[in-house]
Amino acid sequence: MFNDIYNLIKKYQKIRIARHIGADPDAVGSTMSLKNSILLTFPDKDVKLLGTGSNRFSYFGKFDKCEEIEDNTLLIVCDTPDIKRIDGVLDINKFSDVIKIDHHPFIEKFKNDSLEYIDVMSSSASEIVLKLINETPLLMDEEIASEIFWGIISDTNRFMFNNSSPETFHLVGDLIKKYHLNINKLYEPLYLRPLEEIRLEGYIACNMEITENGVGYIKITDKMLEEFKTDAAAPGNMIGNFNYIDKVYVWIFVTEDVKNENYRISIRSRGPIINKVAEKYHGGGHNYASGARITDVSEIDLLIKELDEVLEKYLKKEKDGENNEN
Ligand code: AMP
Repeated sequence: MFNDIYNLIKKYQKIRIARHIGADPDAVGSTMSLKNSILLTFPDKDVKLLGTGSNRFSYFGKFDKCEEIEDNTLLIVCDTPDIKRIDGVLDINKFSDVIKIDHHPFIEKFKNDSLEYIDVMSSSASEIVLKLINETPLLMDEEIASEIFWGIISDTNRFMFNNSSPETFHLVGDLIKKYHLNINKLYEPLYLRPLEEIRLEGYIACNMEITENGVGYIKITDKMLEEFKTDAAAPGNMIGNFNYIDKVYVWIFVTEDVKNENYRISIRSRGPIINKVAEKYHGGGHNYASGARITDVSEIDLLIKELDEVLEKYLKKEKDGENNEN
């Protein structure tokens, strides 16, 4: 499959690379590294990133300002399982060929003949791009290695999540060694945060409610975001820091997003599988890291209740020694 992807990349002069809306470091890392690797290998190709840029990820370098070009163009989409969440693509059928590189559970095929490399066991889309580069004539340099490093480190939360396989450790170890990556230097832009965000994190820790079974949740209004001088993306960025709280197995951040006129939901679990519930509430994601967007306020409490019920069943099975979810 990697060779088929490489051959398609080689064939096209015009290539556009897209990621999911609401980008995170893996979405940016996988697309940016792939773009730079293609350009390093084939300097004359016209390769650009689609989607909106973000100041938050300025350490990755420049985003492209690019209109969607459809004629004789290859589209590569990383880290995105469904068409509606691709950032910057209006009509996928207008691209001549489409490649998907993803580690989310399968939702839909992008085109009848699209080439789709999906590995749900992979820690991140960036890990797949790393393997693609390692196993084909695509080239790598220190900049590309750093972008891949950020993507993997972020999606595994520094190898803490159970999506980190022995292969992930090997691949990252080799990357650090071969490209002399200074990991302390690389951690800084990834983890440096404004004081306002830390204060918001303190507020969440003090005010998170916990259900009887151990679902932690907090609702953050636009007014609170204003008070903390931060935005609707901030709570989702700190949700990983609430892992390993004793007796809290599932935690949910509900953030009012005035700009998009809905509520942004981030859900994490260190027990039950949560993405099936997220899917019922216009969302989705991974087994233990999911998200959703809710417009109808009354659905928020229903979502929390449903996750609480899923957790209750999980804990009962756990007690009876019947769990095979992990
Ligand atoms: P987040 O909490 O935003 O970091 O999202 C965690 C995971 O859930 C990511 O893998 C996202 O791709 C997925 N996700 C987040 N929001 C949505 C959504 N509205 N629809 C489908 N999947 C989502």
